[in-house]
Amino acid sequence: MLYGVFSDVHANYEALKAVLAFFRRNKVSHFICGGDLAGYGPQPAECVRAVMELPDTAVVLGNHDAALVGRMELRWFNNNAVKALEFARKCLSGAELAYLAALPETVKTDDFTLVHGSPRKPLTEYLLSETQFLENLPHWETSPCFIGHTHMPVYFRICAGAKEDGSAPETDFLVPMARMMLSGMRYMLNPGAVGQPRDGNPRASCGLYDPEKKTFELFRVDYDVSKTQELMAAAGLPRILMERLALGL
Ligand code: ZN
Repeated sequence: MLYGVFSDVHANYEALKAVLAFFRRNKVSHFICGGDLAGYGPQPAECVRAVMELPDTAVVLGNHDAALVGRMELRWFNNNAVKALEFARKCLSGAELAYLAALPETVKTDDFTLVHGSPRKPLTEYLLSETQFLENLPHWETSPCFIGHTHMPVYFRICAGAKEDGSAPETDFLVPMARMMLSGMRYMLNPGAVGQPRDGNPRASCGLYDPEKKTFELFRVDYDVSKTQELMAAAGLPRILMERLALGL
């Protein structure tokens, strides 16, 4: 079994199509999606619909998705994000909104744990430090724990039971094309963002997880950034949201 792992699609359908085509080429049978299907980008309905139609998919609610369905207040978002959410609300059908409204904040299976932000605060915590990783350890069990929200591909790991012997966790950015072995330790893995990468690399980010071989591998996928930007301009979305896509920031 092979899982395609992705997060933070953010209504960037061009990027999502490229990632799903990459998953098809790699014979992915199951999918893990860390949420934020909508927000920021020009095609929220197409993105929600595409994920709804995937077979065997675990999906959690992201903070932008939550705001769209009244599960989170808009005061948590900056002005540009609010403009994009108002645009998204006009695009989404009742069935698409109902799908988002029914998404869980946490998914636990025998193969992995999945949240958008962090296990202790699934909708709001930006998990970027080893301290936060340690503080979150009591809040999840099955490794790996997949997270999203920061749009940064990164991993945290610690030996199982290591807290008691005082050893420190390790953190590193995920290196594309480097296959990680996931044995003997507890891992938290962020596959980066499909639709709005923020690590200086504009290519769409995603991963492949094999629970039998216990491996995870990060990939970057080319997509037509200028097409997404044109659609954003036509939709009247804020300029800065368009420009950042070309920079991966
Ligand atoms: Zn996001």
